[in-house]
Amino acid sequence: MSESSEISQSCSSVVRLKSAKDITHCAFCGGILRDENIEGRIRKLCGSCGCVNYQNPIPSIAAIITDNSGGLLLVKRSVEPGVGLWCLPGGFMELGETPEETVVREVLEETGLHVKPGAIFDACSRIGGYHGDVVIIAYPAEVLDGELNPGDDASDVEYFPIDQLPEIAFLSHARFIDKYFS
Ligand SMILES: [Zn+2]
Repeated sequence: MSESSEISQSCSSVVRLKSAKDITHCAFCGGILRDENIEGRIRKLCGSCGCVNYQNPIPSIAAIITDNSGGLLLVKRSVEPGVGLWCLPGGFMELGETPEETVVREVLEETGLHVKPGAIFDACSRIGGYHGDVVIIAYPAEVLDGELNPGDDASDVEYFPIDQLPEIAFLSHARFIDKYFS
């Protein structure tokens, strides 16, 4: 899926970040990488230390949180990609975290709410996006406590009636929402 088809059209001017595919130097020793056919794929081999610099998608999470009347919690993005548009709370996993811990941390950072994640709802991959290749895991989450207060990558946070959702920044999130409420 191309960047332009993943990100809503109103932010089509977004410039793609350098991705792992553009890496030129070894992560282990700083040596120059060259493309080699290894295990049936073109991979980045270090000419100095001989390490293969394997490249993998970045795991991330998205949280589906509803209020008592079935409204869906969305955050307004304050950073690219999709700045000014709305999306599910979420973000990238940090080293040492479980996906559920990422849900708890990201939701707290972006919304001010403490949540308890449920079982995995769905997952998908996004190829060649703003951050390169990403895997997004969607979790429903139950609010334990806290007060709505936008932070981190969010400039606003709000529950929306499901039939009055604003434009969603990411197709992956829009599909999670459609599937969850269908
Ligand atoms: Zn190396």
